[in-house]
Amino acid sequence: MEITIRELTDRRARLVLDATSAPQVNALRRVLLSDVPKMAIEEVEFHLGSIRDEAKGKDYDSATSLFDESISLRMGLLPVPTDLKQFRFKDQCSCKGEGCPSCQIVYSVDRKGPCTVYSRDVVPLGDPSLAIREPDIPVVRLGANQALLVYATAQLGTAREHAKWQVATAVGFHEQPRVKVARGKGCTEACLKNVAEVCPPKVFEMKDGKLEVVREDDCIFCHACEEACEHASVTVGEDNTRFHFELETDSSMTSREAIRFSLQDLKRRFDEMRESVLAIP
Ligand SMILES: [Zn+2]
Repeated sequence: MEITIRELTDRRARLVLDATSAPQVNALRRVLLSDVPKMAIEEVEFHLGSIRDEAKGKDYDSATSLFDESISLRMGLLPVPTDLKQFRFKDQCSCKGEGCPSCQIVYSVDRKGPCTVYSRDVVPLGDPSLAIREPDIPVVRLGANQALLVYATAQLGTAREHAKWQVATAVGFHEQPRVKVARGKGCTEACLKNVAEVCPPKVFEMKDGKLEVVREDDCIFCHACEEACEHASVTVGEDNTRFHFELETDSSMTSREAIRFSLQDLKRRFDEMRESVLAIP
């Protein structure tokens, strides 16, 4: 498999995968969707009863417009920054699952109404670089006499268990389009111009009275060009060895890190499989 990078930003990647097959590309897609580990909030501890603001001498109610379960779920879905070199799965950690800085991050929220609690109010205890990556995600709105005081713990997991541990949010691919124009089938210039015009992504251009394919990659397989030509001069096919691959992440890690982990994970699994096959006497 050869990989060409068309676009690579923190949250988005567009790749062209060459000399491969649909099952191979789909394996990469599935690892990206369900096996890349990330940190997500798993436990939320709410302060119950009244919450006292000593400075104002005022008591607030800890009951808000949302059930605590809903607030916990919303906090669970926040993109927690994840460095896979820094964190381990809790059950594989040297603390034996008790929780330590190598396997968990503790956050706190301390807000008093009236206000909206945003992801930026979910503050890490300790290292400020572990702040939630997207600061403007609303969590809950607090009324004038309401307050939210919680401690939340994030830990490593994968999307096989829950979608909150899903790093890649939109992963898809399609075959390389192959658009061909046959000459000498009796097409008039008007017919060819019509083909160029009906194509929604404008794959064709007219040059010196001839129809040329100029943006083959942009073809969306709508086949409008084939229908527009009565002489069957235009054909749209697929190259099953070359694929356009796209993904987005939830910003908990970069698209580069997610792809790198997925490729290494696939390699590890196939290596293990090869070893077990070779071990068969
Ligand atoms: Zn630990």
